Amino acid sequence: MSSEAHPRRGLMLALVSPSGAGKTTLSRRLVEEDADIALSVSWTTRAPRPGEEDGVHYHFVDKDQFRAHRAQDGFLEWAEVHDHYYGSPRESAFATLQSGRDLMFDVDWQGALQLRTSAPEDVVKVFILPPSMAELKRRLISRGQDTAEVIKKRMTNAYGEISRWENFDYVLVNADIEDSYHCLKTILAAERMRRARQPWMGAFVQGLLREDT
Ligand code: 5GP
Repeated sequence: MSSEAHPRRGLMLALVSPSGAGKTTLSRRLVEEDADIALSVSWTTRAPRPGEEDGVHYHFVDKDQFRAHRAQDGFLEWAEVHDHYYGSPRESAFATLQSGRDLMFDVDWQGALQLRTSAPEDVVKVFILPPSMAELKRRLISRGQDTAEVIKKRMTNAYGEISRWENFDYVLVNADIEDSYHCLKTILAAERMRRARQPWMGAFVQGLLREDT
């Protein structure tokens, strides 16, 4: 049943993987195809990559702007990744959740754990693994967005990131993007049906029990 018919408690889907494992492709596709989930647009101090738009992929800011927003408690979570700051804005997140929609977070492992600490009932943490480290490197090279030096750094970070997999509720091996997308949709569908996320259900069941047949 849609969130319009029955207000439900929005959830936060935190999707984590090393760069290049497919997280961005999966998260963007899901928010495009499912009107009941929106993407949290993070702030970052890194420079835009070719094709990235301010306000769509990230809010691109400098370190002073980021620190000022952080000092005002403007982030639900934030982290320093690959020498840049990244953070999920608090205000827009609450506005989305209050409107009854879910929110997708494309964050690093530290961000997912911070979200879990600040909203333990509402966060679902999904980790995406590459089928192999060689394949991860191949994907990073073939997307052609980063210099050799940056790719080397991302690969080093990938080993650290992957070692956090046990902190997650769900783990997918992204060998095939269509299969992984199907799995992700299944996870979201199941999590939406958790009893605690359907506060209207009590009244509905009471109604059923009152029905004479
Ligand atoms: P990229 O520079 O490749 O876009 O992102 C680098 C890493 O930072 C990725 O793992 C990405 O998920 C993570 N990241 C992006 N936005 C946020 C955020 O708001 N918070 C945290 N903690 N990590 C983020």
